Amino acid sequence: MAVIRQLPETLVNQIAAGEVIENPAAAVKELVENSIDAGATRITIHLTQAGKSRMVIEDNGIGMDFNGLSLCLMRHATSKLQNDDLLAIYSLGFRGEALPSIASVSRMTIQSRARGASEAWSVECHAGEMMGAKPSSQKEGTRIDVRDLFYATPARLKFLKSDRAEFMLVKEIINRLAMAYHDIEFILIHDDKKSLHYHVSDPLERIAAVMGRDFKPSSMPVDVEAEGIALSGFASLPTFHKGNAKSQYLFVNKRPVRDRLLMGVLRGAYADVLAGQNYPLVALFINLPQDHVDVNVHPTKAEVRFKNPQTIRNLMFYGLQKAIREYGNESASLLPSQESRFVNYSSSMPKHLSSAAMPQVNYAFPESTFQPQSRVAETTYNEPIQNFDNITKAQEQPHYPLGSALAQFHENYILAQTKDGIVLVDQHAAHERLVYERMKTSLKEQGIKRQILLVPEVVNLSIDTVSLLLEQAELLEQAGMVIEGFGDDAVIVREVPVILADKMNIQMLVKALADEVEDIGTVDGLNEKINHLLATLSCHGSVRSGRRLNAEEMNALLRQMEETPLSGQCNHGRPTMIRLSLDDIERLFKRQ
Ligand code: ADP
Ligand code: MG
Repeated sequence: MAVIRQLPETLVNQIAAGEVIENPAAAVKELVENSIDAGATRITIHLTQAGKSRMVIEDNGIGMDFNGLSLCLMRHATSKLQNDDLLAIYSLGFRGEALPSIASVSRMTIQSRARGASEAWSVECHAGEMMGAKPSSQKEGTRIDVRDLFYATPARLKFLKSDRAEFMLVKEIINRLAMAYHDIEFILIHDDKKSLHYHVSDPLERIAAVMGRDFKPSSMPVDVEAEGIALSGFASLPTFHKGNAKSQYLFVNKRPVRDRLLMGVLRGAYADVLAGQNYPLVALFINLPQDHVDVNVHPTKAEVRFKNPQTIRNLMFYGLQKAIREYGNESASLLPSQESRFVNYSSSMPKHLSSAAMPQVNYAFPESTFQPQSRVAETTYNEPIQNFDNITKAQEQPHYPLGSALAQFHENYILAQTKDGIVLVDQHAAHERLVYERMKTSLKEQGIKRQILLVPEVVNLSIDTVSLLLEQAELLEQAGMVIEGFGDDAVIVREVPVILADKMNIQMLVKALADEVEDIGTVDGLNEKINHLLATLSCHGSVRSGRRLNAEEMNALLRQMEETPLSGQCNHGRPTMIRLSLDDIERLFKRQ
């Protein structure tokens, strides 16, 4: 008969290490999080071979005294869970697992000096064998030196990837923490080369340092609050996106987390303005009362569980939509680093300039700049400039956000002069967006018309999926689709939105909706599909490139763009216009 026995402490720690310390990046994460919890304002990370052979993490935090140092390597010894309450966690760590786990698989030396203390101490631990604390020299703060990670567990060592790949993971960890803690300086040195250096800065500055310089001028702030939950951060303008979802960061109470919720919400919020294969860049921070979120659900705390995920989801969606509505008239900046680009046209424009009631606009044309151009035009081009003729002089030049049309060129682009620069408009892209918004508005006003199917369509699904989908039946009906249960494992589709009637494979549509319900719990998908179809239709219904417009038509288009939400990009996330200020132009000519 097998004898049951209690496993030795070191083995227990190695088992925990197997779960918590997957690779060097995971060890770095735990150590840097400890430094953050210790109130450090400067954290230096020195790695050799991506941390495989050595990592030294040094901070200027509160440090540890003799007692702390003697205890910190004990399993489940922590200074952070003072009230024994797992729902009141205010620190990144709380389990007292990281140090003993790392120490059980490596050679670790910890030197520390408590804030205000006159002496420093050090402890050493080899593969879980701890040696007593000794006096040491160390400035205030803590320095942890980890050599030969996983030497005590060779199996794990074998599974490590190349230095390059492991180092990428470390960088990602530092980047995530750096975004949340903009008030801490981070320095990462790899094989004696400085790889990252983040200085203390404001939140957006720090996020841009991580995401890339272009993020700042191409981002919009997100800031909403409801039911004690605050959402803040920054999201890219729809015209500034990536081909993958790697720059989408979510933080819950400053803890970097992965959450499938975010992906779904982003897809929904940007659905109107971004084609499917493009992903916005975001760094969003959710702050909520500690007891609304359980962080103790994942070994490395990379995931959390919300008490009310639906509230969080709605707030994120609302916050992003609001930002997109407010800033969507802008395109990503051609020339980054201009601060004053965020103008909300629709709201900042004086009422009397509203385009709907704008029969007689006084088109202004700036004489000084016009003259030389017209001379060039006479000699070089024959026709395109003829539109200038329609532009009449005016005493008072109204300052429209998108300016007054000067010319059309290459039969698709409009050049307009604004108060402080010029605007180039892609007339086809712009018109497409206008038609799309108009179609959406009329859809909203008149409701979605349903069409009864002559032959109802039966779609086979799993039993679970059927009940999930039927829970959404009412929502689906609002979006124009009527379904009923059909036995346990199928639904029958009786009515569909007219606009989709002949254009969609109903089987595929229902299955896609079912996937979505399973994934994110609701069926935004149908609206998304309808909008997608509207987008396609509007693309065909728009002014083709190649149509010549006269000045009135061009100006009318500009005025409509100012009035239309999201007119800064076409339905696919391409910009509809590019704005160049005089400053930009002078920079292009290297006058600045
Ligand atoms: P946890 O972070 O979950 O408490 P750890 O094993 O990571 O567990 O750390 C154990 C304890 O060691 C911490 O609670 C803290 O008191 C102390 N400690 C670890 N790292 C540092 C540090 N860099 N500065 C000060 N104290 C630290
Ligand atoms: Mg810790």
